[in-house]
Amino acid sequence: MTNHANQLTGSCHCGNIRFVLHTNQQASDFVPRECSCSFCRRHGARYISDRHGRLEMREAKRSEISVYRMGHQTADFLCCKVCGVLTVATCKISGRERAVINVLSMPDYDFTAQPISTNFDGESVDDRLERREQTWTGRVVWTREP
Ligand SMILES: [Zn+2]
Repeated sequence: MTNHANQLTGSCHCGNIRFVLHTNQQASDFVPRECSCSFCRRHGARYISDRHGRLEMREAKRSEISVYRMGHQTADFLCCKVCGVLTVATCKISGRERAVINVLSMPDYDFTAQPISTNFDGESVDDRLERREQTWTGRVVWTREP
């Protein structure tokens, strides 16, 4: 397993969902993506990912994580049922779970780069999965909080 220079942490508000992004990038290196779909707009979500990174997800109670699927049903949007915060979206591609992180669940860092706006409305499922394979965080590991 590769060692990464940085660990960027985040969580939902109540701490039921906590995560650590292992990456060689600094917060200021990421260009957050503002998804224009009707779900993400409602959350004001801005996503980052590192295809060479590893996302360590820690859950206190899985039963209190809401998994929302929409449209093509290919991604799981993980919100905390207790506090409502949207943290991460995950997608399984070729047997590997990948993820993007909502930077609003990482308030300890300054994501200073100007966000770019994305719109994937017309994209096919195949194109979608291929794009995510190229851009989404390359590995997700789930652990349970004691
Ligand atoms: Zn919470």
